[in-house]
Amino acid sequence: MFDERISVPINQVEHVIVGKDYFTGEPCERYINCANPDCNKQIICSLESEIAHQGSCSQACREHPRNRYSTKLQLD
Ligand SMILES: [Zn+2]
Repeated sequence: MFDERISVPINQVEHVIVGKDYFTGEPCERYINCANPDCNKQIICSLESEIAHQGSCSQACREHPRNRYSTKLQLD
């Protein structure tokens, strides 16, 4: 015999992305720390944005002499 009860959708726990890319505003939940060790601000950004902005939250951080991102590139 079939169970004819109306099936109630199970209340699924949806994975909601609450973060926004710091640079583009796109939904994102990837955290990085600013490449400037003196700043070290935690920002949400995609890998693309990280590359585009060299992992820095601002131009000042990007141009910082101890910017980890540019240091890393020089080592490679
Ligand atoms: Zn910064």
